[in-house]
Amino acid sequence: MSQNKASHWYAFTHAKCPHCHHGNMFINKNPYALNDLSKMPTHCPVCGISFFPETGFYWGSMYMSYMITVLFSAISVVILGLISGWQIYVLVIGNTILLILGFPVFFRYARVVWLQLNVPFNKELFIKYETSTKT
Ligand SMILES: [Zn+2]
Repeated sequence: MSQNKASHWYAFTHAKCPHCHHGNMFINKNPYALNDLSKMPTHCPVCGISFFPETGFYWGSMYMSYMITVLFSAISVVILGLISGWQIYVLVIGNTILLILGFPVFFRYARVVWLQLNVPFNKELFIKYETSTKT
């Protein structure tokens, strides 16, 4: 299945630089390598844009983390509740376990979303790097 690498969805799901969609945002791609969870290069290894535009930039990603976890919790509790018919306390405990297990993923995608919201996509740069990697 081919993916449209120019799409924001591709950059989001693969945690790519929002500016060029080529550079990786995290040094270790595995979010469950907890020692490297928050380690990011200071600049995109491909286009060179700063991943830390200002001091405390990623404080704003906490809002994204909150939105992601609330959305995830609402969906998981409703779906599990409808499918299983379990008591609400079982659903809350199950959701808590899922949130703990999913923390590294939520943490990273909150940063990815926050950077995507603040850094515009540069299509010319994307095409330049896309054609240079094909040859
Ligand atoms: Zn880049």
